[in-house]
Amino acid sequence: MISDGGWAVKGIKNVFLTKTFPNHFSIATGLYEESHGIVGNVMFDPLFNATFHGWLPNDGANSSWFDDGGEPIWVTNQKQNMLHRSGVMAWPGGMATIKGFLPYRKAAQQDGFSDKQKVDNVIEWFTDEYPINLGLLYFDEPDHTGHAFGPDSEQVLQKIFELDELLGYILDELEEHNLLDHTNIILTSDHGMTSLLNDTEHIVDLDRYLDFSTYFVTSKSPVAAIYPNKEELAEEIYKNLTGIPHTKVYWRKDIPAGYHYKNNRRIPPILLEPEEHYWVRYNQTAYIAGQHGYNNSLQSMHPFFIAMGPDFKKGAKVDSFSNLDIYPLMCALLRLKPAPNNGSLEIVSELLEERSSDSATFGAYLIILVFIGLVGGVFSVAACQIHRRYKRRQRRVSSLSLPHTFHYAKSDRMPLMSDGTDEDDEDF
Ligand SMILES: [Zn+2]
Repeated sequence: MISDGGWAVKGIKNVFLTKTFPNHFSIATGLYEESHGIVGNVMFDPLFNATFHGWLPNDGANSSWFDDGGEPIWVTNQKQNMLHRSGVMAWPGGMATIKGFLPYRKAAQQDGFSDKQKVDNVIEWFTDEYPINLGLLYFDEPDHTGHAFGPDSEQVLQKIFELDELLGYILDELEEHNLLDHTNIILTSDHGMTSLLNDTEHIVDLDRYLDFSTYFVTSKSPVAAIYPNKEELAEEIYKNLTGIPHTKVYWRKDIPAGYHYKNNRRIPPILLEPEEHYWVRYNQTAYIAGQHGYNNSLQSMHPFFIAMGPDFKKGAKVDSFSNLDIYPLMCALLRLKPAPNNGSLEIVSELLEERSSDSATFGAYLIILVFIGLVGGVFSVAACQIHRRYKRRQRRVSSLSLPHTFHYAKSDRMPLMSDGTDEDDEDF
């Protein structure tokens, strides 16, 4: 894919918090969380006096959580051109009416489609009598496996081989249906993953510092969103959390401006942020082997980005950019005027071909796929394998190999780049 398109050599930077719902909605809208309002997989809204659980079907389709200022690309696509139709498969926010729009075709993660069925559905949406021109597709592996067994596990490696097959299947199906030559494909993720250490030093046990009856948390893995049960308890709670080794604690007003995680009523009053590999436990929370959600400055949290298609220069590369830039990029590919956003085309436009004068007409028939849920370093295995397979078959896709080699289970490994649904619905 890289030799047929472009990529970000150092991966891309996601938004704090490096969790699924916030980042999926930032990719889709080009906005920081404080502007689009999805500030966690689990979050509390004092105005609604309610807690959001992302993967619960009712919350996932409830507009009041999602229709809070952001305009996802699937809405922009349908709003600006009556011939445009969006298809959203298992993508957070895709089931909720936003600015009066629902995607023309949609399915939820909870609909239970297998990965292959997800692909089949989206291909059908693209080839329907009234076809979509934009498809967004989310896979929940190898995130799920990474949480359970750790990013360096044999189980994750096995999952990667399965995803390798899946990517091959996607490209085969696109070609089979004469879509491949006309489709811009963006392959990325919402976060990386790191290992948790299950020893006394690395566990930040809230029960050591706080009385369990004085507060509640909406999210604790790994950054804890802490709500005092009464306002007069807040000072003491904050004081007790101050100075815990390998953590930082913030009042909402003191959260660093660079986090862009402050100016929204859904941001918790107290935020406890551990360093990488450290994790917050309370009331005997169970250990899990792999986790994400750490600071977005950490390389291990960063997603990868690869894109190919008629609008992408072959072999183009840039160092890195923000995942907020993907929204204006998708708008450019679809010839749409972006809604107000925090992204920029400054860097990503280097990946694009120069437009011809009739490109606006062509753009009306352009289709774009956004795949989420593969892994960065791991993906190079997938890509290289596909390269070999395609070479064997002498297929049109001439080269999918990457310029670096995947090193499994080394300390300098590339980060995991996926996301998934877990039994504990925080951990995705
Ligand atoms: Zn996850």
